[in-house]
Amino acid sequence: MHLASVDSDDHYTPLNLKNKSLEFPNKQKHEIDKIAAWRRKELHGRHLHDLEQPHVDLKASNKWLKLGALFPETEGFMIAIQDQIINTRNYKKYILKDPHLITDKCRKCNRQSETIQHITSACPNLTQTDYTHRHNQICNIIHQKLAFKYQLLTGKPLPYYQYTPKPVLESSSHKITVHNNRPDITLIDKQNKLVYMIDVAVPNTHNLHKTITEKIHKYTELKEEIVKIWQMDKVHIVPLVLSSTGVIPRHLLSALRNLDIPESTYMTMQKAAILNTCRIVRRFLQDDTSSIPNSGNVTHLA
Ligand SMILES: [Zn+2]
Repeated sequence: MHLASVDSDDHYTPLNLKNKSLEFPNKQKHEIDKIAAWRRKELHGRHLHDLEQPHVDLKASNKWLKLGALFPETEGFMIAIQDQIINTRNYKKYILKDPHLITDKCRKCNRQSETIQHITSACPNLTQTDYTHRHNQICNIIHQKLAFKYQLLTGKPLPYYQYTPKPVLESSSHKITVHNNRPDITLIDKQNKLVYMIDVAVPNTHNLHKTITEKIHKYTELKEEIVKIWQMDKVHIVPLVLSSTGVIPRHLLSALRNLDIPESTYMTMQKAAILNTCRIVRRFLQDDTSSIPNSGNVTHLA
């Protein structure tokens, strides 16, 4: 219809449609251009770069967006965090070049530059409170899964945010212990003489790979000791690591398979990480109302 009407235009309109070369927007090309433009942005392109790392599972990392289970406001806020367009002091000083800003040091610890990564996972003042809360909620998801799997708990599972794990759960075949220090959870399979040392971490995306390697390294000595002292056949070290903005390393999925709990459990872990991180950033910025970003700062997302 479009072609026919354009073809019939014999200078009826000043646009002279007949002589225009017809370029239908190519959806695929459009998308490729958009991604290329995104990649070129020095600050906003970093998240895309993070997602393309070989140790990252791209599909799983974007799952929360596919599911669309969060409030649109939360979804938008997390994208702003991932894209680093949050009015932190660092952003105000170096991107907005706000002349009234005296320092870009963190308003809580006053030690490091207040970047978005500093707020989401690196501020020493939040370690004991906000980060621990996020970490524990993710531990609880795993604990409850294991407890039901080995029938150490029965009935209806609770939402993760209402669940409090008992320090020790034990049956004739299995034992699950929660630790105040690391590792977070130990699971003992008595019949097969297996131990699983589970340790959860929620670092920033650029630290995912390093965190996993460090955890494996850290428990290697302990692993050999446990085999000897507890007379076990095998000790598995299971780091469960996902990023503060919900980026999922491939390692997490294999770790869940190693524990023989559904791989889809990562979706709940991702949701817990994202909701907690959004809460952490909101609360942090509320310390200084002038730091809450206005809509003008997120227009590039449109
Ligand atoms: Zn700080």
